[in-house]
Amino acid sequence: MTDPIKTDCLIIGAGPVGLFAVFELGILGLSAHIVDNLDKIGGQCSELYPDKPIYDIPALPECTGLSLIENLQKQIKPFNTPIDLNDRIDEIRQEQNSWFVKTTQGKEFITPNIFIAGGVGSFEPRKPPIESVTKYEGIGIRYSVPDKNYYLNKNVVIFGGGDSALDWTVELSKIAKHITLIHRRDEFKAVNHTVEQMKQLVSEGKVTLYTKNQIADANGNDDHLSSVSIKSTDGEIKSIDCDEVLIFYGLKMELGPINDWGLNLHEKQIQVNTEDFQTNLPGVFAMGDISYYPGKLKLILSGFHEAALAAQEAFRRARPDEVLTFRYTTSSTDIQKKLGVK
Ligand SMILES: Cc1cc2nc3c(=O)[nH]c(=O)nc-3n(C[C@H](O)[C@H](O)[C@H](O)COP(=O)(O)OP(=O)(O)OC[C@H]3O[C@@H](n4cnc5c(N)ncnc54)[C@H](O)[C@@H]3O)c2cc1C
Repeated sequence: MTDPIKTDCLIIGAGPVGLFAVFELGILGLSAHIVDNLDKIGGQCSELYPDKPIYDIPALPECTGLSLIENLQKQIKPFNTPIDLNDRIDEIRQEQNSWFVKTTQGKEFITPNIFIAGGVGSFEPRKPPIESVTKYEGIGIRYSVPDKNYYLNKNVVIFGGGDSALDWTVELSKIAKHITLIHRRDEFKAVNHTVEQMKQLVSEGKVTLYTKNQIADANGNDDHLSSVSIKSTDGEIKSIDCDEVLIFYGLKMELGPINDWGLNLHEKQIQVNTEDFQTNLPGVFAMGDISYYPGKLKLILSGFHEAALAAQEAFRRARPDEVLTFRYTTSSTDIQKKLGVK
């Protein structure tokens, strides 16, 4: 059996906030280790909207979800922080002034600080409970768009009536061969402008729309999807030939194991103080979408601020005998050395 890994800070979640926390810890000279249960870094930015523009990151007039994450990755490169993907933090246990942490894969850590940057928890797309749909998952049926160019010249069927379904209908109609949008109601829960864009595409024949219909079945051979069957509220079944299917029925936002760690919760968020973003457990901090305090805004920029303040307190816990001096990156040669600036 190997000894637990020692780190100054264990970060739960490789979303934008967990990644930026590495920077804030790194410039103070603290080591970090990130664990994320998804198969890629970037949290919601990579999973839910990699190609969509973001306009409210300070000093970055426009970036996409993906380019923001690529830039963060570049910014934390000097620190060589290990990032374990496809693993989940299941258990945390206090041991004197430190925390023992265990993952689903059985990895163990000892650390004075835990940063919970778990966003909406371990989020999972809602999936229709249909056996044939499960069979074609990943080979024709998907719940997110990892790369929009994958849909070039393809016949795509999109299910859903919210922002994701409508946004992707509009976006993919620019490159796909044809889009069929299917929604179980007549009304859409998306911004008016996108609904109008979609209706315009329908009138131009670029999108075919079926309302009051739901997915009923998926058909094809062992490794290739060729059509989906839809069922109307009147019980009528129709088959639609397609290459690819995207289902946007929303996400299940579950805190999962975080629920069991004795943290004070506010609905599905973790209560923190606004001085250092510590929770009710000493050395356990929460930041980004998962943290709650009066006035909280679930914005990336709020998470960045929270990470910066939490890192200061994390330093005091990891280096109790050292004095923390506030320094600007512009003028501190010590910080610049850590960043590899020559
Ligand atoms: C469509 C859309 C558009 C948006 N546009 C904007 C915008 O324009 N501007 C803006 O500021 N914000 C925007 N947001 C919100 C923004 O994406 C979030 O505020 C941001 O992603 C929060 O970052 P985070 O790091 O806190 O969490 P997340 O990005 O949610 O990342 C959390 C990570 O933690 C992991 N995790 C959770 N629990 C565990 C566990 N137990 N073990 C291991 N890993 C775990 C998850 O897998 C996930 O990868 C948008 C969101 C959406 C959905």
